[in-house]
Amino acid sequence: MTHEAVELLSRYLKIDTTNPPGNEDRGVAFFAEILEKEGIAYKTYEAAPGRSSISAVMPGTGEKGAVILLNHIDVVPARADEWRVDPFSGEIKDGFIYGRGALDMKGQGILELLAFLEVKRKGLIPCRDLIFLAVADEEAGGKNGVQFLLNNHADEFQADVVINEGGFGLSNVLPDRPLFMIATAEKGVCRIKLTCSGLPGHGSAPHGDNALEKLVQGLSRLLAKDNPIVITPLIAEYFKQLASSWEFLKPYLQGGQPETLIEALTRNGMLDIPQMAALLKNTISLNLLHAGNKVNVIPSVAEAELDVRLLPGADPDTVIADIKAHLADEDIKVESAGATRASESSMDTEDFTIIKSVHLEHFPNALAVASLLFGASDSRFFRKKGIPCYGVCPMLISLEDLGRVHGIDERISEENMIKGTEVYIDIVRKLCKV
Ligand SMILES: [Zn+2]
Repeated sequence: MTHEAVELLSRYLKIDTTNPPGNEDRGVAFFAEILEKEGIAYKTYEAAPGRSSISAVMPGTGEKGAVILLNHIDVVPARADEWRVDPFSGEIKDGFIYGRGALDMKGQGILELLAFLEVKRKGLIPCRDLIFLAVADEEAGGKNGVQFLLNNHADEFQADVVINEGGFGLSNVLPDRPLFMIATAEKGVCRIKLTCSGLPGHGSAPHGDNALEKLVQGLSRLLAKDNPIVITPLIAEYFKQLASSWEFLKPYLQGGQPETLIEALTRNGMLDIPQMAALLKNTISLNLLHAGNKVNVIPSVAEAELDVRLLPGADPDTVIADIKAHLADEDIKVESAGATRASESSMDTEDFTIIKSVHLEHFPNALAVASLLFGASDSRFFRKKGIPCYGVCPMLISLEDLGRVHGIDERISEENMIKGTEVYIDIVRKLCKV
C-alpha cells in the first residue's frame, strides 16, 4: 500500500503552480479538500485573482505562543523537454517521487500537513495554537503571499515560532555521518540597477563615449574584485561543529582563530564550491544586461542588473558605496531596486533545542547544526516582526539531488517522505507538548 505522504505528494505535484503566473488557488483547493474531509475549518486569502493562500488552526491551551507551519504552494518554472519525466506528473519511479516542487517545497508542505492532521486525528490538545499555512508567491518575493498576509491579516499570524523551508539533510558531505542543517538565518538580498549613458553615433566612427563600452569596463573592474571572507558568529560555530567530522578543520578547533579557518578552507578547495563560498562572502552576480538595437549604431544607454546577497551584519548602503567605488565611473548611475538585510533567529531557544534533539533522536549518528541559508525565503518577513523562524526539513538527500532544486528531474525518495513524516510529527508534538 502506498504511504499517505507519498500518495499526497504525488497528487500535489500534478498541480501546476508555476510562478509566474502562480495559480496557487489550485493548491489551495487541494489542501481545502483534505482539511474538509478531516473536519478542520480553514480560511483562504486571495491577494489577486488566482493568487491564494490557505490557513487552518488547531487551537491550543495558550500556555505558549503559536507555532506556524509555513510552506509555499508555488514553484519555479520547469522545461518539460529537459526533464526525463513530465515535471507535473507526480510520477513514482524506482523509489522516488518526481516533479517540480518535490524538494522546493511541496514535499515539506505535505510533511507539515500530516503533522498538523496528526494532532487532530489523535484528538490532542496542544499547549499552543498550531497553524498550518500554505502560501502563494514565495518564488517571486512574496508580494501576493506572506507580504500580503502580514500586511492585511497580521493579527492572525502572531506566533512564537515559524517552521519553514531552508533546512535539509545531506547524506554524502561529511565522511562519517549525515549532516542536518537547521536554518537559523538567511542572507539579505539587494537588487541593483546600473544605467550608463553616453553619446550616440555611427559604429564606423567610435568616439570613446559609448554607453555600453563604459558599462562593460566598469563591470569588469567590479567583477574582478574578490569580496573578502567574513567569518560571522553563526558560521564560526557551524565550522566548529563540522570540525568533529572533517579532519582538515581540526587545527581550527585549537584557538578558533578566523585566519586558521580561512586557511583550512582555502587549502582544501572549499572556497571553490559556490555554495560554500556563499556562506562566507557577500556575493555579486551580474544577471541582466541590456543595450543597443542595431549593430552599426553606438548605443546612448546601457543597463545592467546585479543580484547582490548580503551576509548577516552587512549594511546595504556600505555595499552599494563599495560597488560604486569599484565601477569607478560617474556616468554609471547606481540604483538600489530594494534591499533587505540578512535575517537571523537565536539558536538559544527552547524551540530550537527541541527541533535539533528530535533530529538526533531519529538519526542518532547524524550531526545537526544551525546554518545560514544563502538563498532567501519567506522567513525574512516573519523575522522582521521579531518572530523566530527555523528552516526545518528532516529529509536526507545527496548533494546531487540537492542540485535538482530549481533544476531538472527534481525528486524526493519515498523513504524520505515516510521517515520525514514520522520526524515532523514528532517535532510538532514536542513543540506542542503532546
Ligand atoms: Zn522554496
